[in-house]
Amino acid sequence: MLNIVLFGPPGSGKGTQSVKLADKFSLVHISTGDIFRHELKNETPLGLEAKKFIDQGMLVPDEVVIGMLGAKMDEQLENNPKGFIFDGFPRTIAQAEALDKLMDLKDMSITGVLALEVGEEELIQRILNRGKTSGRSDDTNVDTIKKRIEVYHNETSPVAGYYDKQGKLHPIEGEGDIDQIFDKLSQAIESLA
Ligand code: ADP
Repeated sequence: MLNIVLFGPPGSGKGTQSVKLADKFSLVHISTGDIFRHELKNETPLGLEAKKFIDQGMLVPDEVVIGMLGAKMDEQLENNPKGFIFDGFPRTIAQAEALDKLMDLKDMSITGVLALEVGEEELIQRILNRGKTSGRSDDTNVDTIKKRIEVYHNETSPVAGYYDKQGKLHPIEGEGDIDQIFDKLSQAIESLA
């Protein structure tokens, strides 16, 4: 199996690139943010609980995310996928450790982690732009966006070090043309496969 984590700050292009990569490499795309938004649209208890955190630019608690992710993977594994691309997960060291454990139990492993690198000014601009059309309340308020970037620095960026220690981290320049970035990501995945 080919199991990829697409890593990077909010607005770095994980969602855009994951969809394209999942299509190219026939991987199952799992975006925890998309799952929460879907649950929220359907007003499920999980969606309503997640909303409290998302609207403040905070992370949804680990135990909620990890349980949800395990269930999603089990559901997808019934179709014998070629692999997964994780987008927006893991976002904390606890989530990364839980993912390794889940993978271990299933005799699977993370093949590689591609980390998109984008400067902070560019991130804020991209998210505000997205907010004009995304309908995402967390994309329109500059304070919420700054909070998300702060949370990224404090809680999420250490996850890069976690994978670097395992020799699995591959930084990718994330500024520039979408197709060029896609080519760089594709080449990195081909070199892993
Ligand atoms: P972005 O990467 O642009 O911030 P996402 O769609 O990945 O957007 O996530 C939106 C929000 O959903 C996050 O700000 C966070 O509140 C919540 N969320 C998504 N994934 C996770 C996760 N793995 N752990 C905790 N919270 C998460």
